[in-house]
Amino acid sequence: YFGLSFHPEVITAAQAAVAQEGAGTTGSRAANGTYAAHRRLEQAFADAYGKPHALIFTTGYQANLGMISGLCAAGDSILVDLESHASIYDGARLSGAQLYAFKHNSPADLAKKLKRIEQPSNCLVVAEGLYSIGGDVGPLAELSAICKEAGACFMVDEAHSFGVYGPRGLGCAEEQGVLDGVDFVTGTFSKALAGIGGFCVSHHDALRLLHFTSRPYVFTASGSPANIASVEAALRILRADRTRREQLWANVRQIRSGLTALGFRIGATESPIVPIEVGTADQAMATWAALLDAGVYTNIVLPPACRADACLLRTSFSAAHTPEQLDEALGIFERIGREHALIGAAA
Ligand code: PMP
Repeated sequence: YFGLSFHPEVITAAQAAVAQEGAGTTGSRAANGTYAAHRRLEQAFADAYGKPHALIFTTGYQANLGMISGLCAAGDSILVDLESHASIYDGARLSGAQLYAFKHNSPADLAKKLKRIEQPSNCLVVAEGLYSIGGDVGPLAELSAICKEAGACFMVDEAHSFGVYGPRGLGCAEEQGVLDGVDFVTGTFSKALAGIGGFCVSHHDALRLLHFTSRPYVFTASGSPANIASVEAALRILRADRTRREQLWANVRQIRSGLTALGFRIGATESPIVPIEVGTADQAMATWAALLDAGVYTNIVLPPACRADACLLRTSFSAAHTPEQLDEALGIFERIGREHALIGAAA
């Protein structure tokens, strides 16, 4: 979201780490794969969130897998937003706990489903900050209040929202003023931080135990020195410089107003993920290919990930896009959109 993959400080940090510590760690965090940099990065996340505990994982996928399967076991319940990422579903399955889902972004349905759970104090509720396909934001304040009332634990995956939302860029829970109402925040290094890996922060001491008990944390090699160093640098840059976030939001406003003015049907929420509705799968594939040929890459979303008549082209935007590039993209969207009858003819 911020173009940090090519930031000179990020690249230099990665190069220096390879030169000093080698290409890989050749081991698990629980054995020989914990270097000073892994601990430093964990401390940096704990400091950023003002939480006592942080844990980093080799991928963002493993952060959810490792947290959920490490916290829950047979006899517990896990209640997830229906549109949760695969890593959340897979973590729930790996845990052996009973898995339930509540309607997407529906606090009312969460409250209803929580009432049916025998021991809500043994229930982990999981939601996301920013949903990766629809580009919509979770109603975290309401969800957190419902969990608190029922005595359930609340975990939020801020994979797409870390860096993007909140006064300090900590995500949607910070934006909605409910960081204290979230028991576990997870996230990834692969979006705002331009690397590979994932993190979790929490005020619960249970997080310390997961260094020993979470299988997706223990039974895999730790992040490479270059990767950890690049993420450390990216986090430092993001925390020190708010202008990137401002630029990202300016870009979001430019592209949303441009697409809307052209007549495209786009997602309702203002976020860096802008899904465009393109009709049937055939229409989606033809439009996707034409856009690609013209130089615009989008992600295609086909059934069962969407309704058969409401396939999507998922677009996402970065602070590194220039206004000129966005205008050029809008010109291409206009031409291809008219050719494929997604928007009407020019007036
Ligand atoms: N959570 C969400 C919501 C995601 O969208 C993703 C990746 N698309 C992940 C977790 C996993 O992150 P990573 O790809 O960095 O492993």
